[in-house]
Amino acid sequence: MPLSEFALIERYFRSCGVQRADVALGVGDDAALLRSPEGSELVAAIDTLVAGVHFPHGSPAASIGHRALAVNLSDLAAMGARPAWALLALTLPQAEEAWLGEFAAGFDRLARTHQVALVGGDTTQGPLTVTVQLLGHVPRGAALTRSGARPGDALFVSGTPGDAAAGLAVEQGRLAPPAEARAHLRERFLLPTPRMALGERLRDFASACIDVSDGLLGDAGKLAGASRAGAELAFDELPISEPLVAALGAERARELALTGGDDYELCFAVRPENVARLLHELPPQRWGYTRIGALREAAGVVVVRDGIVMEFSHSGYVHFA
Ligand code: ADP
Ligand code: MG
Repeated sequence: MPLSEFALIERYFRSCGVQRADVALGVGDDAALLRSPEGSELVAAIDTLVAGVHFPHGSPAASIGHRALAVNLSDLAAMGARPAWALLALTLPQAEEAWLGEFAAGFDRLARTHQVALVGGDTTQGPLTVTVQLLGHVPRGAALTRSGARPGDALFVSGTPGDAAAGLAVEQGRLAPPAEARAHLRERFLLPTPRMALGERLRDFASACIDVSDGLLGDAGKLAGASRAGAELAFDELPISEPLVAALGAERARELALTGGDDYELCFAVRPENVARLLHELPPQRWGYTRIGALREAAGVVVVRDGIVMEFSHSGYVHFA
């Protein structure tokens, strides 16, 4: 590497994200020293992005920096937690200054938005791989989990799932949407928006929550399964964006909303008696979420249209049972 590991860390990662008063010692020593607030639980998440697996080779460096943090922020949002500190393990084929500058800027922008300090990490040479560990807090006993829902609870999702999967297809040249849809879909893949404010507010309303990273159908199934229940989704209620409809038509847009990945939206359950308060205190138009179905006794997730159960395979192919 032309740039020494030490110089690289100093230049790009020494002051990435915000400075926080609860960091007694950050980047530069053998380990970081961090102070958790009284009465809180420490929330920890970690995720790895591998080039060619989790993002296409040649993805914009700023997008890789953004996504590596965003996927972890989304996990904390799903727990109702507030993020605080990140660690970054970066494996690089070579230390290329322009690439590093953009990568760090992408990470830094999102870290500042959510008051995250980069407090440590590791830098190694090898195939491009980015691991971020994110730490945050939640008041003791107040975290949202996947397992708190019950049959009869209403099920909601934030945003418009499916956009990111379409954006990835655009990046890979598998989908050529009209020009006006293209930028939106690409951005939903390259720069996903973790729903931090919604996650924290949902502590007062939700019985269970999961972040949608592997497709709504599968992730709603994980929430239902962890809650020892099933779920029924209404196909025609699935929220889809105008750009996705422009790219695929409404039918295929809803299929992708169910089966696509990389959305980083929140799927959450709310007890029937709390739904009116939720809709009143967090107006859906302002907070950007939609009711898509309900938990039920029978295991598994079914998608219903006009009273008929639809069947989905993982590839998104649909037929009527
Ligand atoms: P050590 O040999 O003790 O692991 P390193 O030389 O790997 O130390 O790291 C020196 C300091 O720089 C440590 O505080 C470490 O946390 C930090 N660091 C290393 N790589 C990164 C990175 N990519 N981002 C943020 N901090 C980093
Ligand atoms: Mg090290």
